[in-house]
Amino acid sequence: MATAVPKDILLVGTELAIVWADGTESYYALEKLRRVCPCAGCRGEKDIMGNVYRGPERPLTPRSFQAAGHRRVGAYALQIDWADGHNDGIYSFESLRRIAAESPVP
Ligand SMILES: [Zn+2]
Repeated sequence: MATAVPKDILLVGTELAIVWADGTESYYALEKLRRVCPCAGCRGEKDIMGNVYRGPERPLTPRSFQAAGHRRVGAYALQIDWADGHNDGIYSFESLRRIAAESPVP
């Protein structure tokens, strides 16, 4: 869907705000985004047998939930630089739209 295109992406305190091209605004708690980090190290990587391999457990600290910056990746995704140095996760705009639809902020 063409609506999964952000017009504006802002860090606002402990939240990430996205204004979509269709005018919808979505807000995401940074802590929640970090906990759903889609990178292989956090999610685990599946081999052809379906076994899941995860990287070493990384303790999450308060800095893990702070964003030092963010950037667009191509036309389809967002990368977040976490304050603890982690930045492997690529959040597709489609998945961000889905997260917002699942838990709308009142
Ligand atoms: Zn990760």
